[in-house]
Amino acid sequence: MPEGDTIHHAANRIRPVLEGRVPEEIRTPQRRHDADRWPERLAGRAVARVEARGKHLLLHFEGDLVLHSHLRMTGAWDVCADGERWRRAPRRAWLVLGARGQQVVQFDGPLLELITEARSRTDPQLAGLGQDVIGERLDEALLIRRLREDDPTRAFGDALLDQRTIAGIGNIWKSESCFAAGADPWKALSRTGDDVVLAAVRFAREQMAQSARDGYAQRPRAVYGRDGEACPRCGERIRGAGQGEQNRTTYWCPGCQR
Ligand SMILES: [Zn+2]
Repeated sequence: MPEGDTIHHAANRIRPVLEGRVPEEIRTPQRRHDADRWPERLAGRAVARVEARGKHLLLHFEGDLVLHSHLRMTGAWDVCADGERWRRAPRRAWLVLGARGQQVVQFDGPLLELITEARSRTDPQLAGLGQDVIGERLDEALLIRRLREDDPTRAFGDALLDQRTIAGIGNIWKSESCFAAGADPWKALSRTGDDVVLAAVRFAREQMAQSARDGYAQRPRAVYGRDGEACPRCGERIRGAGQGEQNRTTYWCPGCQR
């Protein structure tokens, strides 16, 4: 499932293909986009900037138009040389942009929309985002302030997923960050100290930046998906259980995460 590092990694691959270029090919193969006429509306416009913001990817075109994408659980971006086989079936492609002998493809895109720059600044999904966990700078005082505005009875692990507090952390990094910080993901925010919060977020920031640069395969997996196995730190059995409104599975070690 794509988290912020995956989106930044995709943006890093898309940037050299599209930035500063007028795409030679623009296609929206899904019928639901037939009436949107994006190829006509985007024709002749260069991609001014490719931006990753949390789990969102924004392609800023000249003339105040932005393609906004969020992959949710199922979507994917790919960059291929012309004629190269895509990682998913062509019928699953929602957007194809071609330039410099390469194709940028979005598959299974649950959220894909063309909006104006003005709307990208007021859209609640975008305007309400907290700082990007792997943004250029991270204001830790601001992060703590945002977190302390949240419901103090909310479990720390669940609060880390709130994109309004910090953008980009998903289920894998939530579990791994809590483990790295020795933090109990079930403990209420009111009982989780700032030092523990910052230790978890600093771990996520460092590791996710590396994954954004080098790719997904480099992710650490100390606890995620390892319920029933022995904890690499204390030997206790790792557990997994659904957490929060969306019942996303949290993995943790009850022996050393307190
Ligand atoms: Zn342990």
